[in-house]
Amino acid sequence: MARQRKKQKSLIRNLAVQRIERLFELADDEFGQNPKRSDRYVFLARRIGMRYRVRFPTTLKRRMCKHCRSYLLPGSNARVRLRGRYISVTCLRCNKQMRYPYKSRKDEEVEDDPSA
Ligand SMILES: [Zn+2]
Repeated sequence: MARQRKKQKSLIRNLAVQRIERLFELADDEFGQNPKRSDRYVFLARRIGMRYRVRFPTTLKRRMCKHCRSYLLPGSNARVRLRGRYISVTCLRCNKQMRYPYKSRKDEEVEDDPSA
């Protein structure tokens, strides 16, 4: 019985991730016309993520500002630069920067020390 419940839980999480991905697609579609609506979709996606405790896919994490929660579209309201082993994403709405380690899939598990 416990096993069954566990299976169902992962199924629900799977569904939650799908909904998050869908919301980002919608945000993308709306951005040109209605950027405020895109932010709303990001807000909803974040809420689903929190509620079902799912992690955002890495690619989607980079599509929102962790400071002001805006939907980010590189080349439009976000500036993306490669800085050595990091990708720096600048949110042009709040002008804050986010940095993401830039590495191959192979050593993804290894946590790099930025000061090294
Ligand atoms: Zn921002």
